[in-house]
Amino acid sequence: MNLAQKDLKYIWHPCSQMKDYEDLPPIIIERAKGLYLYGADGKKYADVVSSWWCNLLGHCNKRINDAVKRQLDKLEHVIFANFSHKAAIELCEKLVEKLPCGLSKVFFTDNGSSAIEAAMKMSFQYHYQTGNPQKKKFMALTNAYHGETVGALSVGGVDLYSKIFKPLLIDVIRIDGPDCYRCRYGKCRENCNAECFESAEKYLDEYGNETSAFILEPVIQAAAGMKIYSPVYLKKLRRCCDKHNVHLIADEIAVGYGRTGRMFACNHADITPDIMCLGKGLTGGYLPMALTVTNDKIYKAFYADYNKGKAFVHSHTYSGNPLACAAAVEVLNILKEEDILKKANDKAEYFNSLVREALESHKNIGDIRSSGLINAFEIVMNKKSKKPFDCKKRTGYRIYKEALKMGLLLRPIGDVMYFNPPLTIKKSEMESVVEICRKAVNNILK
Ligand SMILES: *Cc1c(COP(=O)(O)O)cnc(C)c1O
Repeated sequence: MNLAQKDLKYIWHPCSQMKDYEDLPPIIIERAKGLYLYGADGKKYADVVSSWWCNLLGHCNKRINDAVKRQLDKLEHVIFANFSHKAAIELCEKLVEKLPCGLSKVFFTDNGSSAIEAAMKMSFQYHYQTGNPQKKKFMALTNAYHGETVGALSVGGVDLYSKIFKPLLIDVIRIDGPDCYRCRYGKCRENCNAECFESAEKYLDEYGNETSAFILEPVIQAAAGMKIYSPVYLKKLRRCCDKHNVHLIADEIAVGYGRTGRMFACNHADITPDIMCLGKGLTGGYLPMALTVTNDKIYKAFYADYNKGKAFVHSHTYSGNPLACAAAVEVLNILKEEDILKKANDKAEYFNSLVREALESHKNIGDIRSSGLINAFEIVMNKKSKKPFDCKKRTGYRIYKEALKMGLLLRPIGDVMYFNPPLTIKKSEMESVVEICRKAVNNILK
């Protein structure tokens, strides 16, 4: 039995129809460096999806490797209730300096979905113990993605993930989210006034008094297919949430850490959310860790004598894991000392022009959108009507398989293909991945 066969004997892979693996068996990766994964089959793959958006500074980054090794020989893990350690403290000190002004308290979780759960519970309990127990509802956008656990899935709005589980989920007030490619107002993102905010405003005016928090992914709804929208939407939302004493929870798990060209997507709108969730790139894609950060006002609502019963009694076994914290500290050091964001932004325009040049004229490429180094394109049957292909044709998946043959990992979201590479991708690598992508698209959509 070879390794791939053994894999299939034992392993149930995430987000997969395992029958697909009959045709495309698991690709065994032996090692990785920078943009590239090296397979046991001797092939190399350009990882332009940052292995599910978490690899921020290239695989096996020497500085992060060394930082984790140093930490490993000192302290691998310690209970985080009443105990602490230097790596966690250093991380928070450095992070708070970079966060939007006012976010000052850091709560540790161990994956993105858990960070969302913690944020929702924190908001709910805050209102409960500040005299507003009627604030029980959450508002979230259509096409939102916030993770897979039951609370996070409830605020998510992608049927593919949640439809079957509807009877299990908490009831959420669903707001029609922005859709700039198929704008209901006939506007364009670059100069609109986020007219589509009106539906959020209507619901906040009507149900604000019973709403605990409004949660959204700022600037890009990533799992929806890299749907990018105007920061004006966030400005309006901030004002409206304040008016109704509704918390604004910014899920920056996918878009934080420079993915959109700014350290945090909220920076584009110059707003501070009440709660921000971070994950993915936080540890450079090394170890599972996530954070729920908030402000003093929320923190203080839980601060009281023990017998008042106001504490936030929420925990994860691996909260504040020192290895993950050491990786996360080094990520912040690298971002600063190597001026990563500025360099990424200098390259971003070039990347986008390459993508446009290669794909814009293709008859089935309906929209190309970008923010920071994220570049996405949407495949449609008809460019004029923007009508998609029948999803049963699995066009995106077929392009993915074609690109894999040529050494490019271009995992699609339905018929949206995207690049979300490490911020350290080189110009020559951009040229080669875009060229392979162009070929793969042309081979499937002749
Ligand atoms: C990935 C993701 C999550 C969930 O994070 P996990 O670590 O996979 O649980 C939540 N929100 C957004 C926006 C994400 O992209």
